[in-house]
Amino acid sequence: MLNNFNSGQFDFNSFLETKLNELKSDGRYRKFIEIDKNAKTFPVFSYTDSKQEIKSAVNWCSNDYLALSTSDKLIQATLECASQYGIGSGGTRNISGSTILHQKLEKKLADWHQQESALLFNSAYQANLTTLSTLGRHIPDMVFISDEENHASLIEGMRSCPNTKIIFKHNDLSDLESILRTLSPTQPKIIVFESIYSISGTVAPVREIISIGKKYHALTYIDEVHAVGLYGKDGSGKIEEFNLNTEVDFINGTLSKAIGTFGGYISASAKWIDFIRSFASGFIFTTSLPPAICSAALFSIEEIVFNQKLRNHFFKNVSLLRSKLDEAGIPYRGIDSHITQLVIGEAIKCKQISDHLLSFAGIYVQPINSPTVPKGQECIRITITPRHSFDQIHSLVYHLKGVFTDNIILSGRSSMLSKVQIGKVRDKINAVMPWIKTEENYIDTRGDQLTDIPLHTQEGTDFFTDNLSEALKNKEIDIAVHSLKDLSSEHFFGGTKFAVVDRDEVRDVAIFNEKIADLLRAGEKIRIGTCSFRRESLAGDFLKKVLPAYGQKINIEILPIRGNIDTRLKKLSEGRYDGIILAFAGINRMLTSVEHREYFKLLLSTKRMMVLPLLDCTPAPCQGAIAAESSPQNERASYILNCINNIELYQDCTNEKKIASEYGSGCIQKFGVTTVKFGAQTSVYAHGIDSNNNEIDTWYGLKDIRLNISNFDIINSDELGFVAEKTILVSDIPIPSKAVFISHIAAIEMPYIDFSNLRVWTAGIETWIKLAAKNIWVEGCADSLGFNSIFSILNTPLIDIQNDITVLTNEESAERWTEDNIKAIATYSIHYKSDLIDKYKLKSARLIFWSCFAHFNHLKEILPAGVLHSCLPGKTAELLRKEGHQPILFPTKKAFNQWKKKYIQVPSVA
Ligand code: PLP
Repeated sequence: MLNNFNSGQFDFNSFLETKLNELKSDGRYRKFIEIDKNAKTFPVFSYTDSKQEIKSAVNWCSNDYLALSTSDKLIQATLECASQYGIGSGGTRNISGSTILHQKLEKKLADWHQQESALLFNSAYQANLTTLSTLGRHIPDMVFISDEENHASLIEGMRSCPNTKIIFKHNDLSDLESILRTLSPTQPKIIVFESIYSISGTVAPVREIISIGKKYHALTYIDEVHAVGLYGKDGSGKIEEFNLNTEVDFINGTLSKAIGTFGGYISASAKWIDFIRSFASGFIFTTSLPPAICSAALFSIEEIVFNQKLRNHFFKNVSLLRSKLDEAGIPYRGIDSHITQLVIGEAIKCKQISDHLLSFAGIYVQPINSPTVPKGQECIRITITPRHSFDQIHSLVYHLKGVFTDNIILSGRSSMLSKVQIGKVRDKINAVMPWIKTEENYIDTRGDQLTDIPLHTQEGTDFFTDNLSEALKNKEIDIAVHSLKDLSSEHFFGGTKFAVVDRDEVRDVAIFNEKIADLLRAGEKIRIGTCSFRRESLAGDFLKKVLPAYGQKINIEILPIRGNIDTRLKKLSEGRYDGIILAFAGINRMLTSVEHREYFKLLLSTKRMMVLPLLDCTPAPCQGAIAAESSPQNERASYILNCINNIELYQDCTNEKKIASEYGSGCIQKFGVTTVKFGAQTSVYAHGIDSNNNEIDTWYGLKDIRLNISNFDIINSDELGFVAEKTILVSDIPIPSKAVFISHIAAIEMPYIDFSNLRVWTAGIETWIKLAAKNIWVEGCADSLGFNSIFSILNTPLIDIQNDITVLTNEESAERWTEDNIKAIATYSIHYKSDLIDKYKLKSARLIFWSCFAHFNHLKEILPAGVLHSCLPGKTAELLRKEGHQPILFPTKKAFNQWKKKYIQVPSVA
């Protein structure tokens, strides 16, 4: 128990904190979404989400039932009136705040409800609270007989005076009658109830309650807040619909819901109104409604009475929504009124569902939790307006159907990797639809059973997915999880439903036994295990160029290897191979798994590795991507897939697969296809040998740049005659990290560096090959796409050197790296000899491809006007941008040359 009297003072702060924390821990703490309402687009509005992004959503919980708050006519009337009357009324009704408009509106309301009089309040809440408490205070023997589901404003009104209150069961006539029977006929009493209950949408047996009231001489007080504007011939409410206007004693209504303005009122006999007007503190001592609001309400009531079409449209939409819910098999309550209630039954789930609907589908529904409804009755209350379109209704029902899923069965292969992949999908589902419980099971696929047999020797495709597809078809499982690259093109494009949930690094990695250097030194044959023709053809050739040769000829033999990642690594450790080639993603995923991390660290502990470059050893299409697949007929699972799909990854993978299928399909292919992102561009690169034995080296989706300039006006800065004088700055360098990034071979030409304990990465292949010739083991390169392009791979658990790498470069560049908080050492400086520059060539240049930023820097003062700049992605591009240029980017020098050949038109001779 909190001691609020610490040091003799009441501790308000901790009192407030305790109280608010109580609400938070019960899930009852209210957070408001800030709606940027727009009358023109209503019910669509915008809001700023928790990531500070501006989003739009459809409002499905507004009580502006007829959307009259956004009516042009009403807005105009309000503006005109405000410009005549000003904004506020400036006083209580008693002191200067009673305008002609207040009186006109009260007259209108009385006529509308076929009562003698009406009285305006600033809200229906205030009307209820004030009227009931005034009755209670001035008629002390008055007994309140109240429906158990009455609104807070009615309860507060009755509670604020000491009169007896008796609660009858919701809409239960016999309970009501049994209470009344116990009270003497002379006892003043009043039955307090609503015509339409705001949350559940239930409708009271109004006629019967009034007639029981009469039988037992009880007054009747009906809250018509959710009925005014909608029901009855003239739209004044349920009392009008049931033709009971002369039978009821008090009608309470609001101007703030269907009427679309603001304020509340009661309507009754002239005597009762006079009495409340004269004795009710909550009426007397508060500033009256702004006159413009009264004017708007008058217009609005006219609109309701005469525009039957508007109300018809509203009810048509209510019916349409319900027929769609019926079709979708979604149970709802509130059938007798326009309020549709979906019972969820759990506060946290209710909140999770509404959060999901808002963030994922732009559907704004408010969870209704206790104390508004009893525990276990937590619900989503849906309201509609005539402004909701067919498409919006359709989308709401589609998403509601999707969220009404409690359990889902996930399945995949029984390998360790597959379990980790399933874990990723499970985590994703938990993140976006946390109320869904997942069950997992594993299936031994045909590919798993064919251990040690190269799959290309077997008939068929989809070795790792067809058993899963079967299980999906037979409805034994809901979602199958697998590597996307395991899907054949036929399966991929065959109308199946899948999501791309995650993609790890796409490259391949070659893992070698520790003694690889001894074998290379001795010129012995290197046995590389792979079962992929692509890896055999691309990686086999590449390794010959980049393994340290120690003056020997490198002799590589490719041997087939099968099995899961761990089995293959074990086979390597057993010495059956000297090296194996695997997908980087697989090992990396095992290293991120808490369960398997240590085991895989052990398997890799004495190994050496080379991360194979993207462009020379192009990965298979979709490599590294995890797919979650369902049968399109399984609507629940398909919905989940839509929620966990990463659209960008899905698009990348689909593009890769489409391009790959132009060249051949199946696991016998000798080419790779991969997405390369640089600058703001996304391109797809296909490389290798196609099924007709033609070489592929093609970029897709490069910006289609067409310039009407001659080929001769496009130059590479290398062609300008730069002669660089290098000065070696250091000779013996201690490297302050476990890894180095060598930006150019010149960085290590003269200095002495002991590479034996260093992990080496290079900017591109050229430097890698030169280092291999110096017998230096290189772990990977940035494919000339810039150091930033390998940031994420350096941060993976398999590589893990992002914060422990030093860039070796020239003096100017080192300064820039250091400014960017990256360790850098300048080993040399460059000076260009200006007198050797081909000024004539430079003058005629219309587009220059800068092979390094230093070239630009050296010539920037004398560049021809309007010259276009281009370069590779990476530092040069970044620095050109800083200089205010927008260089045209090419992923490789080769791509630049290909473009130059293909696109440049020679201008016609005039
Ligand atoms: N009565 C009922 C049944 C309500 O649902 C509400 C508001 O939600 C009120 C009264 C109060 O109406 P107002 O918003 O005009 O204060």
